[in-house]
Amino acid sequence: MPNILFAATDERWPEYEPVLRAALDATGMDYRLARDLPKAEVDYIVYAPNSDVQDFTPYTRLKAVLNLWAGVEQVTRNETLKVPLARMVDTEGLTQGMVEYVTGHVLRHHLGMDRHIVNPPHSWRPEPPPLSGDRPVTILGLGTLGLACAQALAALGFPVTGWSRSPKQAPGITCLHGEAALDAALARADILVLLLPDTPATTDLMGADRLARLPLGAVLINPGRGPLIDDAALIAALDKGALSHATLDVFRTEPLPRDHPFWAHPKVTVTPHIASETRAPSAARVIAENIRRAEAGAPMLHLVDRDAGY
Ligand code: NDP
Repeated sequence: MPNILFAATDERWPEYEPVLRAALDATGMDYRLARDLPKAEVDYIVYAPNSDVQDFTPYTRLKAVLNLWAGVEQVTRNETLKVPLARMVDTEGLTQGMVEYVTGHVLRHHLGMDRHIVNPPHSWRPEPPPLSGDRPVTILGLGTLGLACAQALAALGFPVTGWSRSPKQAPGITCLHGEAALDAALARADILVLLLPDTPATTDLMGADRLARLPLGAVLINPGRGPLIDDAALIAALDKGALSHATLDVFRTEPLPRDHPFWAHPKVTVTPHIASETRAPSAARVIAENIRRAEAGAPMLHLVDRDAGY
């Protein structure tokens, strides 16, 4: 009978306990699930990186850690973790939320909505936006979230280019991969969406030189991770008009410090890391299925490649 520790902040327990029990019960397994267990008896940890558990060494029986979040940079860097790590792939909740955030913010910029929402002089300026087919969008990161967003935008008629590490094929999407293709992916991005993980290979990916590859007046939307962008280079590109707007959901330091220039910049929209969240009911089913698989000796789903960092 597996012993499952729920290691996340206290307020998550009432939200997750009933749905995890329901999902685990549905697998037919016997199990023990608790907020607190003797460390040497724990088989699985359902884990949020901001929990009290930072040293995995005392968990001598541990078989796997199941991350509640899609981003795993805080866990992959934890050298005390020696067992498999599964990240969160929650199609019904997390992925759907990201599709809605990205589509909404792409459409905001595509349609020029700000002009009409904030219009103090009440000026009547009939400037219809182009159709989506004339607004190429590039998504860096064509994984679970990037691909779902790419498909939603392509369904709305945007010409979508996706960029990843390994080669991909997706109907209706121009798929590029590898460093040599990055400039080409950037050059066609009237709107650029970052959905890459934070790894040693992606840190500062969007520095001054890469920002300069974007078409004049491009918009950048970052719901990926803060360190993907060189903040000072982004502000410089906005100030000189090379980019027209940045919508940022994630930052190097969160919460974004009160004195950070992003807050007051007229061409920056800050959203407080709300692009998408793991939703307890659907995430619980993913976790229960993964524990069932591990107990049955089947390969676990969504395992992280610790060397690649995602
Ligand atoms: P995946 O692991 O499914 O996809 C990551 C994608 O990035 C893959 O396409 C991968 O390429 C690509 N990639 C990774 N490294 C490189 C590289 N060096 N060069 C080119 N491509 C690279 O992750 P998800 O789609 O599930 O999530 C993406 C990120 O979104 C998370 O890591 C997290 O940071 C962020 N996120 C943000 C949230 C928010 O609320 N703001 C919520 C959830 C996630 P390949 O396919 O070849 O492996």
